[in-house]
Amino acid sequence: MLKVLKFGGTSVGTLDRIQNVAQIIKKIKDEGHDVIAIVSAMSGETNKLIEYAETYTKVPVAHEMDMLLSSGERVTSALLSIALNAIGYPATSMSGREAGIVTDASFMKARIQSIDTTNMKNAIKAGKVVIVAGFQGVTEQNRVTTLGRGGSDLTAVAIAGAIEADVCEIYTDVDGIYTTDPRIEPKAKKLEKISYDEMLELASLGAKVLQNRSVEMAKKLNVNLVSRSSFTPEVEGTLITKEENIMEKPLVSGIALDKNQVRVGMYGVTDKPGIAATIFTALANANINVDMIVQTVGVDGKTDLDFTIPTTDLEACKTVMNTFAQQARNIDYNDSICKVSVVGVGMKSHTGVASKAFTALAKENINIRIISTSEIKISMIVEEKYAELAVRSLHEAYDLDK
Ligand code: ADP
Ligand code: ASP
Ligand code: MG
Repeated sequence: MLKVLKFGGTSVGTLDRIQNVAQIIKKIKDEGHDVIAIVSAMSGETNKLIEYAETYTKVPVAHEMDMLLSSGERVTSALLSIALNAIGYPATSMSGREAGIVTDASFMKARIQSIDTTNMKNAIKAGKVVIVAGFQGVTEQNRVTTLGRGGSDLTAVAIAGAIEADVCEIYTDVDGIYTTDPRIEPKAKKLEKISYDEMLELASLGAKVLQNRSVEMAKKLNVNLVSRSSFTPEVEGTLITKEENIMEKPLVSGIALDKNQVRVGMYGVTDKPGIAATIFTALANANINVDMIVQTVGVDGKTDLDFTIPTTDLEACKTVMNTFAQQARNIDYNDSICKVSVVGVGMKSHTGVASKAFTALAKENINIRIISTSEIKISMIVEEKYAELAVRSLHEAYDLDK
């Protein structure tokens, strides 16, 4: 089999952990498989590099950030290759460029456009383990790009799809996908399988165990995706698969929490057609991910507009919103909020799922600021100080600990 394995930050967080990864790969090679391993930077490294840059400015030049951030993954890829060669397993490391990954030019959140797998295939044919620095590619003009936070997951899935690997295993510090983050709710239960769609919702709504774009790509390319632990590699993980491969569909599969959200309020806007279109077009052009949107009209005929954005887009959002300052009474930014979400395919065919969530939060006296729903999720904005309490009470309300 050809296996694509990805090792996240904590899995390569120290020299000993890298040695541990070399041992995991050695075992898989000994079983007769070919291996392409994608690595993240050592845990904390990317954050440290961002902090370095931010000592100079809050809005560093984006392509320089990519030059900086991509270095973390190159360090671990080379170290892992050195460790493997040292124990007698020929390996070769590749940067995103050498692995043939071409992206568009949206620096810091680039999209993969194509992968030329020739170099990887040749190295595999020569009997080598291929180690790819995750999270990066190059533009057609040969500038280094990065794929957004958590982007090594995407590198792994995209390579697995392009090279038609038999499986893509994402090794992290938990042994699979749980009904909620086990660090918040120790009673969370591990799922044996979860559908692409539910995993995509959980990941998009804050469960960083898998990057959302990687799940989207796995679904599109039909990649057999497994989440498992490099700390307990003998334990089977969770399979992320097509909905029809899951026999028993739970009503609710999991609860997600996203603390990296800001609520933007634009108050007292003159109510006329086109105002929302103008604002949200400007935000979209600036590549800002706007999520929940609520528009209400006050008694004075003026409109209030509330929406949420990721914290990482705050500076860019302020720049855009400042151009509309004249058109509103005031604009404010509240980052002491969070988004809690309930996800489950079973919601499609059941009623009363949403009211159960509202009741659970009401019981704890947690005020819900914004609600949005889709076919398979309910999201609620609450004060950040209630984040963990909200997750636990929802987890209990849907009997996910049973
Ligand atoms: P890596 O560095 O390996 O990419 P991440 O820190 O990005 O790992 O993701 C793993 C973390 O995701 C876990 O430590 C866990 O706290 C968190 N997590 C959030 N939601 C879930 C969930 N539903 N199931 C498992 N882990 C989750
Ligand atoms: N090192 C990058 C990050 O911390 C990419 C990754 O780990 O997937 O976001
Ligand atoms: Mg991650």
